[in-house]
Amino acid sequence: MDYFPLFIDLKNKNCLVIGAGEVATRKAELLAKAKANITIIAPEFCTNIKSLAEKNTHITLVQKAFSPDDINQQRLIISATNKASVNKLVAETANLHNIPVNVVDSPELCSFIVPAIIDRSPIVAAVSSGGASPVLARLLRSRLESLIPPAFGRLAKLANKYRATVKENINPPAQRRIFWENALQGSIAELFYSGKEKEAEFELQKAINTNNAEKPITGEVYLVGAGPGDPDLLTFRALRLMQQADTVVYDRLVSKEILELVRRDAELIYVGKQRDNHSLPQESINALLARLAKEGKRVVRLKGGDPFIFGRGAEEIEKLAEENINFQVVPGITAASGCATYAGIPLTHRDHSQSCTFVTGHLKDNTVNLNWKQLAAPNQTIVIYMGLVGLKTICQSLIQHGAPVDLPIALIQQGTTHTQRVITATLSTIYKKIEHEDIQPPTLFIIGTVVSLHDNLKWFNPNNGL
Ligand code: SAH
Repeated sequence: MDYFPLFIDLKNKNCLVIGAGEVATRKAELLAKAKANITIIAPEFCTNIKSLAEKNTHITLVQKAFSPDDINQQRLIISATNKASVNKLVAETANLHNIPVNVVDSPELCSFIVPAIIDRSPIVAAVSSGGASPVLARLLRSRLESLIPPAFGRLAKLANKYRATVKENINPPAQRRIFWENALQGSIAELFYSGKEKEAEFELQKAINTNNAEKPITGEVYLVGAGPGDPDLLTFRALRLMQQADTVVYDRLVSKEILELVRRDAELIYVGKQRDNHSLPQESINALLARLAKEGKRVVRLKGGDPFIFGRGAEEIEKLAEENINFQVVPGITAASGCATYAGIPLTHRDHSQSCTFVTGHLKDNTVNLNWKQLAAPNQTIVIYMGLVGLKTICQSLIQHGAPVDLPIALIQQGTTHTQRVITATLSTIYKKIEHEDIQPPTLFIIGTVVSLHDNLKWFNPNNGL
């Protein structure tokens, strides 16, 4: 280990920053977070550092060139000037006085390193490469950022509030450690992360009283949107829940790559539906989720796109609400959003479309029941989910109600995946154009003049042949 990691208390301690450009501003901001008393010395100050000092009474700006006399009773010093001679003088003087000094981008002049920081105060993680590769340290930091929920810090404050009570009530220490492990990674923590902080605190109190923070008898269900296909489009929360699930109940739309991110030991249950071939009726899925939760399982109900957009997500949680089973809903990127962006078709545009409507083209009794007059009006974008079978009826009805025959339409097949295809045509030509194409589900249609922007704005070009 080349550097010894430690966390210093700088509250109300004098710290010196030499230099007043953008880098110095960032260092001063960091020191201000630690509530230090900061003096910044420089012949000139950039606008950002001036406004930082205006907002923060603990920052004093001293306009002058650095001189060794300035180093006086400081807890630590950061030099961020662009003058090598000044930086060197600062480092030498600081070393003479045994004051820790950091010279930005000059590891050879530093007696301490400022690490890459993940701040979930009071939890703080610091990563350093010992100066070998600050970029690698920052990359590791961003991985940790995505793993640690934003509410982690607030959870730590809650734990701190009950620390003494737990110490008093739960003994010996080994048992106390198990108690905290269960509380801080089980359902109490999950309640907290999902925004039910009061309920989480109540459950924690209950667990302290019963000396038991183990998994509750009743499990819970997380209704999670898996996005349109590209695993990179999952939310952090979706990923975290997938990695701690006991059981994952998933649909046909959830891609294989996404399923691979589920915890290895989790049980996978497929309840996907094919068109006109419901492999498991909706009522049975609702009942299945409730049953699994009652068995004490943490169930992730994984659905394509967003669970609340043509996903029947509400029906599934209505049953859970009825049975008083805990649940949370995690939004996902819906197909309209994912397909439109990956096809380079903006859903709204000042010159083309002031509104966007999502409709289902699913045929009920062989008719598509939509408000055609409204949908045929100009200056809007229409996105059709489940529209392949009803495509001809949809296009003809729009034309009958006044939409131009040459209104652009795009078919997006398997959007956001490496098998994505985009086919553009007009309302009157699209169904002929795709007649002899081998179109693979799922497909989405976008109708409106925004589609004309696709040629210029397309950026995602997967190699379908590979
Ligand atoms: N809840 C989902 C939609 C479920 S309905 C969401 O928010 O995206 C199923 C329909 O969504 C499909 O018939 C298709 O029209 C559309 N769809 C979902 N994923 C898609 C994808 N990757 N590419 C194209 N269409 C998609």
